Amino acid sequence: MTALLAGQGLEDRVVASSVGSDCYCDVCVIGGGPAGSALATFLQRAGHRCLVLERSRFPRYHIGESLIPHTYGPLDRLGLLAKLRGSHFPEKHSVRFVSPEGTETDPFYFSETIAGEASRTWQVERSEFDQICLDNARENGVDVWVGVGAEEVLLDNGRAVGVLARSEDGERHKIRARVVADASGFATLIGSQLDLKEHVPGLHKAAVWSYYRGGKRLSGIDAGETTVFMLAQRGWFWYIPLPNDIVSVGVVASPDYLFDESEDFEPVFLREVERCRPLGERLRQAERTAPVRGVRRLAYRNRQIAGDGWVMVGDAAAFLDPIYSSGLFLALTSAELAAGSIHVALQAGDVSAARLGTFPVPLTKGVGVIRQLIGAFYDSNFSFRAFLTRYPEQRGALINCLVGDVIDKDMSGFQAALAEMTPATAF
Ligand SMILES: Cc1cc2nc3c(=O)[nH]c(=O)nc-3n(C[C@H](O)[C@H](O)[C@H](O)COP(=O)(O)OP(=O)(O)OC[C@H]3O[C@@H](n4cnc5c(N)ncnc54)[C@H](O)[C@@H]3O)c2cc1C
Repeated sequence: MTALLAGQGLEDRVVASSVGSDCYCDVCVIGGGPAGSALATFLQRAGHRCLVLERSRFPRYHIGESLIPHTYGPLDRLGLLAKLRGSHFPEKHSVRFVSPEGTETDPFYFSETIAGEASRTWQVERSEFDQICLDNARENGVDVWVGVGAEEVLLDNGRAVGVLARSEDGERHKIRARVVADASGFATLIGSQLDLKEHVPGLHKAAVWSYYRGGKRLSGIDAGETTVFMLAQRGWFWYIPLPNDIVSVGVVASPDYLFDESEDFEPVFLREVERCRPLGERLRQAERTAPVRGVRRLAYRNRQIAGDGWVMVGDAAAFLDPIYSSGLFLALTSAELAAGSIHVALQAGDVSAARLGTFPVPLTKGVGVIRQLIGAFYDSNFSFRAFLTRYPEQRGALINCLVGDVIDKDMSGFQAALAEMTPATAF
């Protein structure tokens, strides 16, 4: 990775060039969201010619607005911190949980375990944040084709050798690449094509959300906090302050519970807002400004996230649950780790699964910790208050998990404590 950041290149790189509608590059990245932009930026800086295919025209809407502090490292290495510091995105210093009756935990301030400015992060409007990330890729020399959707990964004896894509006007492109990176998010292009996608046992949640203007904000350092309002049925609401007095509000719960009376998102969302009294108090003066959107099944993963000539990063690899706002952190972190593996593989002239597949190792362990804490959250035997009363020494480890400090870290003591309290969560 150091070599990547120093911008060292390869002698034998293949320069992207258009030949009619055919094109050659080192790395073809499918999807220009945060994971795809980050991956392409790191690799382009290391001297590999990258092409990003993005089917939408930016700015485009996306859910997933709350960053966690351990995005600081990747954002810094991407050169994005100055833009975020100068942005109008609210600063986020903490997260707070509110019981169905309105009892609040003390906020978990990230400064309890992180010193300096890295202890705060941002609540971002994704149309703007994703545009910043993609523009940054362009500024670093990445070739970005917008309005071009990848249709299929080209395989030669099981090895990815390129991508078949189509522009909005119907023109077809055959792109030859030494490595294909799937950063297509929920579309999971390679996972679907190779039939690698599967459900995550024990995690079956749906989400429904919308936006309000004029929702109540807390003051001072708490103004940008994420507030989590718990529902009696192990579901929860997020309350995320955004720029221009807008707040993002969404509910996550089992689909059986959410859609038991109606399949339509709007009545389900309004019913749940009505049922959650502490949330209703925050929204008393607010007006809704957007339609209600939703996802009926959130969690999935792939049995394999690297193969001969291909890798998956970000949501294209897996998505678990939004409760700890880890999606963008995992998108950026997986992109940076994968960039390291791809760089080494290209230098060695060996893009086999064995070479490319080294990056998921530290990631998988860290994701395992987050997954266990997600399982605990939905276990009726668990509450943060009860956990910290029983294991006060685990407060630091819990905050480490909430901020994303789980990669290459020994969390075995924390995991053992969680397993004692919620045995079903020990995967
Ligand atoms: C309800 C909900 C709430 C969430 N809340 C949070 C949160 O608070 N904090 C957080 O960090 N995360 C949150 N997330 C997760 C977060 O949204 C994702 O983890 C993040 O967007 C992943 O980034 P990505 O780059 O992998 O994918 P995406 O951001 O989805 O980007 C994928 C890109 O690929 C493009 N694409 C797709 N298919 C093709 C194709 N065939 N060809 C070309 N382009 C293609 C898409 O247009 C898109 O631009 C939430 C998710 C959900 C569902």
